[in-house]
Amino acid sequence: MQSDVISYFMRLIAIDSESLNERAMIDALKLDLLDLGAQVDEDECYKKTGGNAGNLYAYLPGTLDKDPILLCAHVDTVTPGKGIKARIEGNKIVTNGTTILGSDDKSGIAEIMIALNRIKESGIAHAPIEVLFTVSEEIGLLGAKCFDKSRIKSAFGYALDCHRVGELLTGAPSQKSFEIVIRGVEAHAGVEPEKGLNAIKIAAEAISAMPMGRIDFETTCNVGKIRGGESTNIVPSEVTIYAEARSHSTVKLQQLCSDIEHAFTSTVSRYEAQGAKLEFKCELEYDSINIPQDHPVVKLAQTALRNLDIPFTTGRGGGGSDANVISASGVPMIITGTGMNNVHTVHENIEIDQLFQGTDFIEEMIKLHSSTEL
Ligand SMILES: [Zn+2]
Repeated sequence: MQSDVISYFMRLIAIDSESLNERAMIDALKLDLLDLGAQVDEDECYKKTGGNAGNLYAYLPGTLDKDPILLCAHVDTVTPGKGIKARIEGNKIVTNGTTILGSDDKSGIAEIMIALNRIKESGIAHAPIEVLFTVSEEIGLLGAKCFDKSRIKSAFGYALDCHRVGELLTGAPSQKSFEIVIRGVEAHAGVEPEKGLNAIKIAAEAISAMPMGRIDFETTCNVGKIRGGESTNIVPSEVTIYAEARSHSTVKLQQLCSDIEHAFTSTVSRYEAQGAKLEFKCELEYDSINIPQDHPVVKLAQTALRNLDIPFTTGRGGGGSDANVISASGVPMIITGTGMNNVHTVHENIEIDQLFQGTDFIEEMIKLHSSTEL
């Protein structure tokens, strides 16, 4: 396996791995992890996700009798992520402007793998290390959701999946998603509109009555997609509304969800006599993370960054990641920065220095975890 983080990162970038098509990446990483002396196992989550590869779980036995430490990154990318042509421009690795770069999350993978390689090459005594490379994170944390979390032996872990090295996210919101169907009555719009009941009009009223946007400093809500109607000359009989709500507070999220439901039930009930119907589906996507600042998972990361003279920030994020799913299973996990920039756009890039710093950070955390009880 390569020992240079830049060439290793470039090699990973050249392997296409859009969500549900992670086969080639999982195969490549499996070989490299075996090379490092890890016990490697791919699960069968593709049977549930419809993808072509499972999550990769690896256990690198330690030379010290200590608890393992868990390092996690996702192998899938968003689109357009096929045939990525990356090049080095000054201190940055950039694309040719037609695809994403895939530093989200291959920078995390490269930093983990090269740090493990350095630990192995140096021959120093270390604690066992668990590595989890998940699939289909970008399309709803699907891999992490179906991974058997009871396999994790570590007391805590790290998801390498945010921006600057030194950024530590110890909190993330919980999210619920909504699929709401409103049914009206179809009729010819020009000949006998009075026989119809316009589902789009009812939807508009209900959406106007619901909370929207930033609700408070830790709570948001959005209608992101609406689908319905066939033609301008038909009174539409059905419309589907897709929305989401997030909050760092479970109580506030619960309140927001019942406010949304109330907006729809009360609006639709006014048209019930004319034949309006409502189908309201609400699903929990993931739980929130709220890890105290004095938890060992935070302290270990902060000490490693301090030792390396890397400035750090500790805060809360606004998105969901594998860390939400793993933390909810009882293994506290924070999200750490890898250097990725402008992710989910064709302007995605990463600074070379960040890849080096990110690798140093992981290596230092493993060394610290192996040597001390924080
Ligand atoms: Zn990511």
